[in-house]
Amino acid sequence: MSLVAIVNTHWHLDHVSGNPALKAAFPRLKVYGTSAIDGALMGFLANSAAASRKALAEGAVPAAAVGDVEGDLATIARGTELRPDVIVDETRDMVIAGRPLSLRVAHLAATERDLWIYDADQKRAIVGDLVTLPAPFLDTACPEGWLAALDDVAASGAEQVVPGHGPIMSTADFHRWRDAFGDFIACARGAGALEGCSAGWLAAASRWIGDDSVRAKAMADYYGGLIRAGKLDGYCTA
Ligand SMILES: [Zn+2]
Repeated sequence: MSLVAIVNTHWHLDHVSGNPALKAAFPRLKVYGTSAIDGALMGFLANSAAASRKALAEGAVPAAAVGDVEGDLATIARGTELRPDVIVDETRDMVIAGRPLSLRVAHLAATERDLWIYDADQKRAIVGDLVTLPAPFLDTACPEGWLAALDDVAASGAEQVVPGHGPIMSTADFHRWRDAFGDFIACARGAGALEGCSAGWLAAASRWIGDDSVRAKAMADYYGGLIRAGKLDGYCTA
């Protein structure tokens, strides 16, 4: 078997850090992605690398996390090798490795520009981190843009949705996830207690969270706080 294509849905390191090793192993391999990683390398990733180096120097990183932090620093240092070979900044239909695929671009969603794939033959949407568990990963997200991207996925005709983190979903489950996400955002944008927003998320997503509820609650609390404090609003402007 030979790997010929990778579609990076977005630039988060857990999605792009494998690019250099896979390209070394498969020389014909082409990486498809948006150019949003360029802004991230100058901004978010550069800032987080500086913060990580400072924390390491001060001994502020827990011993169990040092390996991961050093790994991320090494990945960011090779940032230009993470960039896509084929830039896809606008929605377009392509044939990749003989398969017709529609690469859809979502603006100001989980990142500044996310890619998701619609495979019409299979009626399957592969959506990257537009769907994640045990909570939506909102670190670099515009919540309202993300909701609009979910509407596009819902309108695509997909009967199966493949999340970036979590099990493959039926259309019904995808709609459940989307409703839970929308309710969580609306709650965090509102004035009620944030604990209520986390509790709502945990209840609505309980079928997927299972015994991961401690982590799910910690994430929902954290992201609810980011939304409430307006810390994600900057991601809603290009
Ligand atoms: Zn991810």
